[in-house]
Amino acid sequence: MAKSRSSSSLLAGTKPKSALKALFSVTKGIDVQPRTTCLLTSYQMNRPDSPALLAPLGPWFELHRRAMPWRDEDLDRVHPNPYAVLVSELMLQQTQVATVIPYFERWMVRFPDASSLSAAGDDEIHKLWEGLGYYRRARHLHHSAKHIVTHGWPMDFEGLMKLPGLGPYTAAAMAAIAFQWPEPALDGNAFRVLARILGIEGDPKLQAKALRFWLKPALEQHGASRMTQSLMELGATVCAPAPKCGKCPLLAQCEAHKMKATDRIPPSIQRLQPKKAEIWLVAVEAEGHWLLCEPAQKGLLAGLWKWPAVESAVLVEETVAADPGLPYASSELRAWPGWTQVYTHRREFVSPLHLRMEKRFQASNDYRWIHENELDQLALGKRDQHLRELIKDEGSPLLQGPSPRALLIQLRGDANHVP
Ligand code: SF4
Repeated sequence: MAKSRSSSSLLAGTKPKSALKALFSVTKGIDVQPRTTCLLTSYQMNRPDSPALLAPLGPWFELHRRAMPWRDEDLDRVHPNPYAVLVSELMLQQTQVATVIPYFERWMVRFPDASSLSAAGDDEIHKLWEGLGYYRRARHLHHSAKHIVTHGWPMDFEGLMKLPGLGPYTAAAMAAIAFQWPEPALDGNAFRVLARILGIEGDPKLQAKALRFWLKPALEQHGASRMTQSLMELGATVCAPAPKCGKCPLLAQCEAHKMKATDRIPPSIQRLQPKKAEIWLVAVEAEGHWLLCEPAQKGLLAGLWKWPAVESAVLVEETVAADPGLPYASSELRAWPGWTQVYTHRREFVSPLHLRMEKRFQASNDYRWIHENELDQLALGKRDQHLRELIKDEGSPLLQGPSPRALLIQLRGDANHVP
């Protein structure tokens, strides 16, 4: 265990008995998990020194903060537009600032307040969110807007936690940034900064409760919005996984830097290898209409239209070649070059097909024929939108085989080489 200020200055003045239990003891009901090593001592837990340790952050943030359309210039007041903070916080979940900004700006033009959003229809909301991913966030925002219009803004942190889509982190960020309530919000950036400053070895998320307790006085003393945003900003721009310590306002305080341990604090997370899959997307066209799968009511892709998709070329082949009930006789099958679609846990090689038929057939319940002119009004997920763009782009190359079967056999060979 590294010797540090925990066993010297911070423990000076504690009684020998408590000193023995200094690292990771249980004080004031804060159960610090013993699986990690941390410099948060019982002394610190009784008298958190975050206000002194983090004092340089506020002035640094004033000078170095990035401009963002939802940020208020004045860090000391209650945010004049909490709705804008809510929109930004939900958009920023799992998504980078640069990606969010154009979406945020478009959103605020169309839905400038909770009232306009609450009155909108699902299709329009999904359409505006199209491309940002994790569509459940759009639905949560919609439901939150309805709640706010009916009941007003929550009056406390517990009330914020009841808004759809607001977990402990987002509710705390809203509390601090929109309302100046001193609720510590710990995202990945904040955990990394605190782990390094305090020299926490092991997963700092296991210390979340203790870290919030330690951090809160800094929010109370220096301003909740200022401290919350500056901590996140430092993690995003300076104390990144590869830190730029020479530019850091907390260099003198940083235990990880003193121990030359910034490469192991916090430990990097081993990510699972994404699973590989092949997907065949089939755009079926007949009489100026396209066949689409209706949106699901629940799940990750709720509210989004989809092209018919199958996970096996054999199934496509069987359907195209064998169903005597469908007017395939004079159908044409062509294909666009495929692409690799990368998700967090999955890597798909997508083979897009264009099946042109003479007549529309009776589609099963989940499917609808959509007129060409209405296609652009539908909200599609990223993968399905890509196929929509191929259809619109008359210049995109189409592959054609001597027969649908021959084409599928050729494409199947391509799909076996998923990168
Ligand atoms: S000194 Fe380096 S490791 Fe420590 S908080 Fe600053 S940037 Fe992060």
